[in-house]
Amino acid sequence: MQTSFTDKQLLNKDNKTSESIIRKCVHCGMCNATCPTYGVNGEELEGPRGRIYLIKDMLENKKPATKEIAKHIDSCLSCYSCMTTCPSGVNYMHLIDHGRNYVEETYKRPFLDRLFRNILSFVLPRPNMFLLMALSSKIIKPFSFLFPKFLRNALSLMPDKIPGKKLKEKKVYEVTEGKKISRVALLTGCVQRVISPEINEATIRLLNRHKVEVVVMPDINCCGSLNHHLGKKKSAHDSFKKNIESWHEEYLKNGLDAIISNTSGCGTTLKDYGHIFKNDKDLKKKAKKISDLTKDVTEYLDENLKLNINLQSDKKYKIAYHSACSMQHGQKVHQQPKDLISKTGNEVLDIPEGHLCCGSAGTYNILHQKMAKTLLHNKVKNIEKISPDFISTGNIGCMTQISAGTRIPIIHTVELLDWFTGGPKPYKLDNF
Ligand code: SF4
Ligand code: SF4
Repeated sequence: MQTSFTDKQLLNKDNKTSESIIRKCVHCGMCNATCPTYGVNGEELEGPRGRIYLIKDMLENKKPATKEIAKHIDSCLSCYSCMTTCPSGVNYMHLIDHGRNYVEETYKRPFLDRLFRNILSFVLPRPNMFLLMALSSKIIKPFSFLFPKFLRNALSLMPDKIPGKKLKEKKVYEVTEGKKISRVALLTGCVQRVISPEINEATIRLLNRHKVEVVVMPDINCCGSLNHHLGKKKSAHDSFKKNIESWHEEYLKNGLDAIISNTSGCGTTLKDYGHIFKNDKDLKKKAKKISDLTKDVTEYLDENLKLNINLQSDKKYKIAYHSACSMQHGQKVHQQPKDLISKTGNEVLDIPEGHLCCGSAGTYNILHQKMAKTLLHNKVKNIEKISPDFISTGNIGCMTQISAGTRIPIIHTVELLDWFTGGPKPYKLDNF
């Protein structure tokens, strides 16, 4: 695509990056075919090609975002399905990130919208604040009929139960049997550690059982992606910088062979730290190191360990594998989780139209409830077509979203692998 940025505009490094992305686009429109929002709305500006034009126009002409432009940029799920489809290698992810920041800088949202987004931006990345909100929501839920529909729906996504933690929180989880073969850091996350602590516990148990020492940096909570996708550059970058410094110091002092993410949305952002800070002379090397070290837990297991399968029953299950968008499109980790589950002797079922988003997408299912519900409905219909015993995935957002639409249990892949290698049965499968 031809561009008309001036030389002065191209002195801005973000513009320069976006220009080179835009120039790769040949406006063939193939990406529209796999874009969930285009599929539902059928409008050019609700697809990747249309959004690329909108961003190009704003940046080249220094146009502030309007209500209409913000609507189309906001409605993108950042699912990156378009990147998998694009034959020209357009890095839509980096372009939409720039577009979101630009919208946030130039568009004044209506008061209530601004307030709600600021609350999400402040509360979600802080586990203690989020726990307080989750506990309060339990008290408020019976009276939710008093609230507007929007808040009622948002409340319905809050967990009914906050599971207790079984593993004591500490910095280093040492290997207790045999000699350690590796040392990794684990990102325990913000929302996940509150609503599903069993995922981090299963990860630590599984790694320790396979002789891998696990480090959890006490000062690291959120990876920064929640704010990154809200276009809140400063808050996101504060988290990014803190995380990079903390892990890098640990890497230099005590050694780290990998940084493990068990939430694919966060893993995608960690793997992008190197790009985000590529023009920062103080941080670029450290950020690249952190990105290079980052692995999704299934990617790490597949590449580095031979799982000691230890089944506690002969029963075999039909497991539908839901490949989160951030996993399959963002990180291109698709086959490894399925291979690992297959190795346990259980049957892995592919979900029809598995490339399409379930509508979770960070805060998307809170901020864009209508589209999120449509996508959830389609996803559940496709899952139910293949009648699995249960569903497995590697992203807490998808787990929360999909479980709002079906009674079929949904279990994190790492919990399954922990169970099938000698760990406890996931509590959501108690009735099986
Ligand atoms: S598929 Fe790629 S090249 Fe074609 S319009 Fe979409 S982004 Fe542009
Ligand atoms: S990231 Fe997803 S929703 Fe956004 S334009 Fe690409 S395919 Fe469409």
